[in-house]
Amino acid sequence: MIGNFLKGARGPKGNDSRYLLDVHRRDLPGKDTMRRYPESDEVDLLIVGAGAGGSVLAQRLARKGWRIVILEAGPFWHPDEDWVSDEAGSHRLYWNQKRIIGGADPISLGKNNSGRGVGGSMVHYAGYTPRFHPSDFETLTRDGVGADWPIPYGELKPHYEELERELPVAGQNWPWGDPHSYPFSPHPVSGAAQVLWRGAIEMGIEMRAGPVGIVNGTFGNRPHCIYRGYCLQGCKVNAKASPYVTHLPDALAHGVEIRADSMAVRVELDDAGKAIGVTYVREGEALERFQRAAVVAVCGYSIETPRLLLNSTSPRFPNGLGNNQDQVGRYVMVQGASQSAGRFPDEQRMYKAPPPEVSSEQFYETDEDRGFARGFSIQTISPLPIGWAEHVIAAGHIGRALREYMRDYNHWTTIGVLNELLPQPDNRVTLAEEKDAHGMPVAHFAHSRCENDKANMEYSKKILASILQAAGAQDTLTIERYAHLIGGARMGTGPENSVVDSDQRVWEVENLLIADGSVCPTQGSANPALTIMALSSRVASRLAAKRISTGASMEMAR
Ligand SMILES: Cc1cc2nc3c(=O)[nH]c(=O)nc-3n(C[C@H](O)[C@H](O)[C@H](O)COP(=O)(O)OP(=O)(O)OC[C@H]3O[C@@H](n4cnc5c(N)ncnc54)[C@H](O)[C@@H]3O)c2cc1C
Ligand code: SF4
Repeated sequence: MIGNFLKGARGPKGNDSRYLLDVHRRDLPGKDTMRRYPESDEVDLLIVGAGAGGSVLAQRLARKGWRIVILEAGPFWHPDEDWVSDEAGSHRLYWNQKRIIGGADPISLGKNNSGRGVGGSMVHYAGYTPRFHPSDFETLTRDGVGADWPIPYGELKPHYEELERELPVAGQNWPWGDPHSYPFSPHPVSGAAQVLWRGAIEMGIEMRAGPVGIVNGTFGNRPHCIYRGYCLQGCKVNAKASPYVTHLPDALAHGVEIRADSMAVRVELDDAGKAIGVTYVREGEALERFQRAAVVAVCGYSIETPRLLLNSTSPRFPNGLGNNQDQVGRYVMVQGASQSAGRFPDEQRMYKAPPPEVSSEQFYETDEDRGFARGFSIQTISPLPIGWAEHVIAAGHIGRALREYMRDYNHWTTIGVLNELLPQPDNRVTLAEEKDAHGMPVAHFAHSRCENDKANMEYSKKILASILQAAGAQDTLTIERYAHLIGGARMGTGPENSVVDSDQRVWEVENLLIADGSVCPTQGSANPALTIMALSSRVASRLAAKRISTGASMEMAR
C-alpha cells in the first residue's frame, strides 16, 4: 500500500543519467568531452557493443573507478537529427549487414531483432520490460524441457528491482511469476487496446497495463511520453528507456570512452591463453587497430557475439574462442510472435499510443492439458502503416485487396503473443564462406522448430482469435512471425554444456566475459531486455566486490 504513495518518488541511487540529459537537446550528454584512452594504454575493461548488456556493465564498473573503452560497430546517434517519425526512414537503426539464414524455419534478421549503434537494439525496441519468471531458470527440472540455469531467479531479483527504478518501468501491480509492483503508475490505455482488453476479459483472461520502460510523468530531465507511437523508430522525445538515455550518460560522466564506428574483428590471446585486447576496424579505414585491455567483455548480442568468438582462432582455440567443445553459436532461440488483427466498426487508430500497452502472462507456465510444455505471453501491439502492409501481405493479400486493407487501417487493432520456443543445439550460428568488407566471415543462422514449438504456436493463435471474436471483431487477419534473439553463448555448469560459467566468464579464459543476450540458456515468454540488463548488473556487482576472479593485475590496485 505504502508503495502506491511513493510511486515515482524513489529514483535510483548510483545512476544520474536522468539528470545529465539536457532538457533542450536530446543527444548523448558528455559525448564531445568524454575521456579518451590511447590504444597502447591497457584499459581495465574493453567492452564490445554499446547495447543493453554492454552499457549497464560499463556504467556500473565506471562508477567503481574502472577505466573502460567500449567499441561499438555502429554510429553515435543524434535523436534530433538521425531519428525520424517515419518507418521507412529508420532503417539505419537496424543491423542490416549481410547474414545468411537456413534451417526448416529460417528467421529473417534485421529490423525485427537486431540493432546497431550506440544504445544497441533497445534504441528501436518496443519498450515492454517484463521480468523472467522463477520457473524460467529451471525448466528442465520443472518441466523436463529446455535447460536449468546455473543461477536461480533470486540472484537477479535485486537487479531487476534496481533496473525497474532506473528505466523507470510503469505498470500495474504484476500478479504473475514473482508478483511485484512497479515504481511508476500505469500509462492510460488507448481505445484500440481497451477493445482488446475487453475481449480478453470476456474470455476469462486477465491482462494488466504495462510493464513498459516509458516515462509516465517526468523523470529528472526525461519528459513524459507524448503517445505518438514511434517507439520502434527510436523515441525522439527520450521518454522511452534505452541505454542511450538510462545508462550511457552516467557512464560517460564516469570516464567511459565509447569508440563508435569501430567493428571488433578478433579477440586476441597471449601465449598463456589470457585475453589481451581486441583487434578492430574503424568505419572507412582498411587498417586494423588494436586496443589493449586487462579484461574483455563481448556484448554483441546473439548473432554477432558467436560470430566474433568463432572468428577469433588461435593455436589454443583452433575452432574459435571458447569453442573447444563445439558449444559456441548453439542454442540460439527466437520467440514465436504470431499476431492477429481484428476489424471493428468504430475507428481504432491503433497508431495513437506506444505499441506496448497491455499484456498477460496467464499462459506463461506449463499446463499439461494444453499438450505442450511451457507457454506464451499475450501483448497488444500496434503496427504503423508499413508494418500493417507487411501484416496484410503475410496474410496472403496483395494487389487490390492489399489496397483495400490499407485504406481501412484506422478500423483495425492488433494483439500478439510471445511463445517460448525451446533451446535446441542445432539452432546455431556458424561462419559462412562469404566475407564482409573487413574480411570477416558473415554469420550463418540455421533455425528449425521442434514439435513442442509448433504446438505452442498453434494453440496461442487460437487464443488470439478467441479474444478478437469476444471483442466483436468483424474480420480477422492472423500471421505467424518471430521476434527477439537469445542464446548462442549460453551459461552452464561446464564446458561440455555451455560457453560461459555462472559468472559469464568464457570457460578456460578467465578474463574474457560475455554480457549480453547470448548467455541465456532459456528465454521464457518475456521480452528479454530487462533480463539482459539485470545479468550485466549482477556480473558488475560481483566484479566490483572481487567475487569474480579474472586474474587481471589491475584488480590488485582496487
Ligand atoms: C524491433 C525490436 C523490438 C524489440 N522489442 C523489445 C521489447 O519490447 N522488450 C524487450 O525486452 N526487448 C525487445 N527487443 C529486444 C531487445 O532490444 C534486445 O534483446 C536487447 O537489446 C539485446 O541486448 P544485447 O546487449 O544483447 O544486444 P544489443 O542491445 O543489440 O547490443 C549489441 C551491440 O553490439 C554491437 N556490436 C555487435 N557486434 C559488434 C562488433 N563485432 N564490434 C562492435 N560492436 C558490435 C551492435 O552494434 C549493438 O549496438 C526488441 C528488439 C527489436 C529489434
Ligand atoms: S509513444 Fe512515447 S515512448 Fe513511444 S516514441 Fe512516442 S514519446 Fe517515445
